[in-house]
Amino acid sequence: MTSVEGISEVQDVAYMLSVVRITKVVDCWLWDQNANNGFSVATVKTAMRQNAYGHPGQGMRWESWVPIKVNALVWRLEKERIPTRVELVKRKLNLPSVNCPMCNVGEETVNHIFVACGFAFGVWSKVWSWCRLVPASSNTIEDLKTWQDFSSVAGKGKRIVRCVIMVTCWAIWKERNKKVFHNSDPKVIKVVAVVKAMSFLWLKARSNIDKIDWVKYPLYML
Ligand SMILES: [Zn+2]
Repeated sequence: MTSVEGISEVQDVAYMLSVVRITKVVDCWLWDQNANNGFSVATVKTAMRQNAYGHPGQGMRWESWVPIKVNALVWRLEKERIPTRVELVKRKLNLPSVNCPMCNVGEETVNHIFVACGFAFGVWSKVWSWCRLVPASSNTIEDLKTWQDFSSVAGKGKRIVRCVIMVTCWAIWKERNKKVFHNSDPKVIKVVAVVKAMSFLWLKARSNIDKIDWVKYPLYML
């Protein structure tokens, strides 16, 4: 397995398994939601939404306009379940450094790699400039959740902004993995190009947006 995505997935799985605790309790199936009506997928979805996003307006919602892998990454990012160097060392992995591979200045926490890092800042700045939006604050993962509610954007625009945020997170993590596993040369402009191209392709395939000027300005049709 030599592809960046392959190596990254193996590391992800190893990380997820590292938090599993095996006990002597006999395995069993449990379903305690709405027991009178039995099991249903709809009830599971409702329970998951309530559990993940108990407070309306907070948290990124599952977004059908982007692939499952992007949704899953953002969900794990919010839960801080991403195998950054700091998280791996917490789980007893012996790494030579916990410094961010992109800037080599801060420690690679989830907050750092996606928001606080100079590299991430460069990406977000270009993405916001493309969307003609100016976020009020951009220092923490919490800010990601508020960015999706730009008051100047309405209706379908909010959904597009949410998708762009999710795709940007995915593109930053992909570039980080290329650097870590293939020692590539990270470039802000490359990541922004990926955000523009992939968000267009995915939204075109999954939504009714079909405009050729997307790359100039994604919210122009609103
Ligand atoms: Zn950094």
